[in-house]
Amino acid sequence: MALSVQFLGAAGTVTGSKFLLTLNEQRVLVDCGLFQGYKQLRLCNRKPLPIDPGKIDAVILTHAHIDHSGYVPVLVAGGFDGPVHCTEGTKALCDILWLDSGQLQEREAKATNRGGYTRHKPARPLYDKKQAEQALPHLSQHPFDSWVQITPDISAKFHVAGHILGAAIVEIEAGSKQLVFSGVLVVWITRSCRTQPPFRKRTI
Ligand SMILES: [Zn+2]
Repeated sequence: MALSVQFLGAAGTVTGSKFLLTLNEQRVLVDCGLFQGYKQLRLCNRKPLPIDPGKIDAVILTHAHIDHSGYVPVLVAGGFDGPVHCTEGTKALCDILWLDSGQLQEREAKATNRGGYTRHKPARPLYDKKQAEQALPHLSQHPFDSWVQITPDISAKFHVAGHILGAAIVEIEAGSKQLVFSGVLVVWITRSCRTQPPFRKRTI
């Protein structure tokens, strides 16, 4: 069967990064981020994914920023039971960021309910601190520059990306295809190209 790549986020916007790879009934999600920003985008976090989380075999994270990793607790609460592959630095940051994200959402829901600012009775957090804790054991850390077998036909390698601690450009081999997910692509302007149009940091 041919490899398919489905964009479940970070398309038309830069947050909610999620790319679903499917090959021979094997399903791998590259990045699992929250939509952030204005309300219409944040509401996308409440919509069910077009795939049952229990049918996803594994997740690969490019880096820990919440718009790339913060949806994992929702995925786990929805039945995902596989590993979340990442680098050591990304794991260390997710250990902190996911709990913080859960706690912030709990506080926000409480404040909303106290102030009566919602049509939802009661307003509920997307996930709470306890659900964030339940997602943490899924994290599986790997060194840079080594191939990791993700599923029988899909493997991945993390390359140093800069940006934040642990951030990686992820190279993927899926059957006969090669893909590269930059996560964050940083281009440094060197003296020789300063006369060229300005390069910008681009996030997907
Ligand atoms: Zn980032």
